[in-house]
Amino acid sequence: MTIMKNQVMVRWHYIRRQPAIPPTGHRPRVWDHLGIVQSSILIKVTTARPIRHVTLLIVGLLVVGTGASSSEGARAATLGLVHQAPAPVKTAPELIVERLSLDRFKDNVSQLAGFGNRYWRSDGNRRARDWIQGQLESFGYAVERHEIRIAAPLDQLLTTGEDSVYATKIGTTRPHQMYIVSAHMDSFNTQSPDNTFAPGADDDGSGTSLVLEIARVLASADIETDVSVRFIFWNAEEIGLVGSRTYVRDRSALQGLEDPPGSGDFPEPVWLGVIQHDMILFDHGLPDPQTGLVADRQIAGADVDIEYDAANTSGGAAIALASSLLDANSKYAPLYPAEVGQFMCCTDSVPFAPFVAAISIRENERRAEIGRGANPHWHKSSDVFATYRDEDFRLGFTAVQMTAGAIAELAGARVPGQ
Ligand SMILES: [Zn+2]
Repeated sequence: MTIMKNQVMVRWHYIRRQPAIPPTGHRPRVWDHLGIVQSSILIKVTTARPIRHVTLLIVGLLVVGTGASSSEGARAATLGLVHQAPAPVKTAPELIVERLSLDRFKDNVSQLAGFGNRYWRSDGNRRARDWIQGQLESFGYAVERHEIRIAAPLDQLLTTGEDSVYATKIGTTRPHQMYIVSAHMDSFNTQSPDNTFAPGADDDGSGTSLVLEIARVLASADIETDVSVRFIFWNAEEIGLVGSRTYVRDRSALQGLEDPPGSGDFPEPVWLGVIQHDMILFDHGLPDPQTGLVADRQIAGADVDIEYDAANTSGGAAIALASSLLDANSKYAPLYPAEVGQFMCCTDSVPFAPFVAAISIRENERRAEIGRGANPHWHKSSDVFATYRDEDFRLGFTAVQMTAGAIAELAGARVPGQ
């Protein structure tokens, strides 16, 4: 608060972290419309005569009383009248999460569903794979592929012609260790018997888009991580986790090996944790027991589900990893909450679980909710971009913010220039 000869200038510093887009059910407040995240409002009162301190107090209380309807807001406003706190220094995870784009997240889903079919061995699958590779290369990554080979008679391995795609942000201090952030790029549709149409917007265009968006932001030349982060787009998940199973089979023994020796290159850094994303848009509750139908709109209690496998926690490391994600949700993803469950199932983190901390991120619990019909578009022709509303994409974007914040913390991200 500044006092001049006959003016009062009250600076109201509003310090609550506020989403740019309010979640559904959130009571609109004046600062939503102003788009304030962290801001100040300057109120100048000019009077004819010099102002006494009593007058200042009355003006101050008036501002608090009329402007701040919530106790949180009132507290912030009151603090602003007492002293003006310096703007807090942002942490590296906060700076990284700020660079994520909801529009890009949506656009990626639209692109992926637009291939029309990403069923393994289809032309659409190969075009989608090449598009993902092109995106990663445009961010500046050297892209690698893991060729899928499956068991055949006489102990041979047959090449299926399918590849998973991956790119790595190489750590600056511990490049020989890494976290894996992943999703499956293939799709499946039970309503297309000849496997010619499987748009897979949510399953798993949404998870694939998340991995692309985090890869884009972490690619920035001004961001460094202590350990490496590998972004993997699994192929052939829908026919039995084939991409991830064969990756674990082929590459587990290569962990931490420098190749060639003395080169400083570690083709397969030691696995520290795997965060898989599989369907992150749609939380409309369970089907109505009477009608069997799922609500058209997102439920009020919509959240992000983090799951580990209670039978395979890697000595508790998977639970610790899940906790890191939950913590990151509260710090970096203000739109929706998250919760942790212990029944991870049926996605590409499963083959890793016996060896390393492995979790999955989903719109619902895989067994208790998705498995009981919570998403009527799952493996259906209706899993197209237009099926999902803005609120569905905001739920998905919450997972993007959560994983980005968590991986920035876990990988020791720094933004040296800031
Ligand atoms: Zn899936």
